[in-house]
Amino acid sequence: MSKKVKVRFAPSPTGDLHVGNIRTALFDWAYARHTGGTFLFRIEDTDTTRVTDEYINAAIDTLKWLGLDWDEGPEVGGENGPYLQSKRLEIYAHWAAKFIEQKDAYFCYCSPEELEAVREAQRAANVAPGYNGHCRELSSDQVSAFKSEGRAGVVRMRMPEGGTTFTDLIRGEMAFDHKFVPDFVLARADGSPLYTLAVAVDDILMKVTHVLRGEDLLSSTPRQIRVYQAMGVAIEDYPVFAHLPFVMGADNAKLSKRNGEVSIAWYREKGFLPEAICNYLALLGWSPGDDRENVTMKELCELFTVEKVNSSPARFDMKKLEAINGDKIRALTIDEFLKWTLPFLIKAKVITGTAEEIDLVKRALPIIQERIVMFSEVPAMLKFLFVKDFVIEADSLAKVTDSAAKDVLKRSLKELEPLVDWTHETIEAALRSSLIEDMGLKPRIAFGAVRIATTGSTISPPLFESMELLGKEASLSRISAALAL
Ligand code: GLU
Repeated sequence: MSKKVKVRFAPSPTGDLHVGNIRTALFDWAYARHTGGTFLFRIEDTDTTRVTDEYINAAIDTLKWLGLDWDEGPEVGGENGPYLQSKRLEIYAHWAAKFIEQKDAYFCYCSPEELEAVREAQRAANVAPGYNGHCRELSSDQVSAFKSEGRAGVVRMRMPEGGTTFTDLIRGEMAFDHKFVPDFVLARADGSPLYTLAVAVDDILMKVTHVLRGEDLLSSTPRQIRVYQAMGVAIEDYPVFAHLPFVMGADNAKLSKRNGEVSIAWYREKGFLPEAICNYLALLGWSPGDDRENVTMKELCELFTVEKVNSSPARFDMKKLEAINGDKIRALTIDEFLKWTLPFLIKAKVITGTAEEIDLVKRALPIIQERIVMFSEVPAMLKFLFVKDFVIEADSLAKVTDSAAKDVLKRSLKELEPLVDWTHETIEAALRSSLIEDMGLKPRIAFGAVRIATTGSTISPPLFESMELLGKEASLSRISAALAL
């Protein structure tokens, strides 16, 4: 009987989680859900100088926001905890000591300067860089001499001759010659563990069966496998590896701050829906097997298999993400749309959140739902309905003050004043018959001036609907005010 799948997402949050992290988390989660397995979330915070509580909390919050729920990990607990590596230091110290005792590892007393000199010589001789094994076989006298110089040893893993092979579920057979995998540090002189020790120990102790993670970690795999060996783990109990392709920017370089927006917090602030982000990221390197672009979380869980992950790099395409987000926004009910939009309007200080304001927002949302790709566009679009001190944008001013515009505004005022029934239909009929039919103006010229006078900008939601929402009194007083400019 095959083992129940357990997949883990194990970020080291040294900042906000980025697109690559989340794509990994999403695939981990989807694979766990697809197989009916367990999704484990572990925080790799052994580098306490770079991983802060703030970033850890933000990572937890981001996963929750995206709907990537975990079965074991921070907040939910589980039988293999704690799930913060900083709370597991004794476990790593135990294994480092055991490896020394078994002679799988040794204390290395080389100073940073000496190591740099070795690297320098290797560069000059054009040989592969890496530790030269200097401290592998120290005598007890040599050790005492180093100690008396005040040197403290780091724990270094002994890499045996030969190589490591494993089958990567995405890349197939992988082989690493140990000539290129030098002895590596497991723990610092103060006893604190390094990534390779902590990650390998935890994957084994937490009974992880599948490691799906970014391609950048591929080269660390033989070192992790070496730790499993030293722990005495049977080969059939090693986790299976699958290294996901890089996410590239539009310029084909690895996606970074330089060539794209990488932080998920940025997308959240801009008003992307979590479902849209997940939908888009799911398609970065994976395909459901047909060319559909709309994938729900449920479908992702049903369809996700590692075999369908592509091994070549995926290219991040902001336009496609925006299109998916726009589609998902259009599919929202007005109540859902309202729920997502209100925080943006309140943050932008367009509204304070009174019942009256919310009612007006709700009536205005249908006219903008087709027009936006992200929620952060909403405040600018609806601001005209709420501003107390209405002013016309400076760069639109000239278009309402010339004599042609004045004629339009004068006539509009005259036609609109007698309207008893103030609806977008009556407003449109009145303005069309007077400005277009009688005055023979082009709609762009005629309605452009009215739009600027009533909304303050050349860009607004549909004009007649906007005027209906604004109300007769405010619309007319704004047109009169524009006429007086
Ligand atoms: N903590 C590592 C990182 O964020 C990833 C660990 C792993 O997936 O093996 O880079």
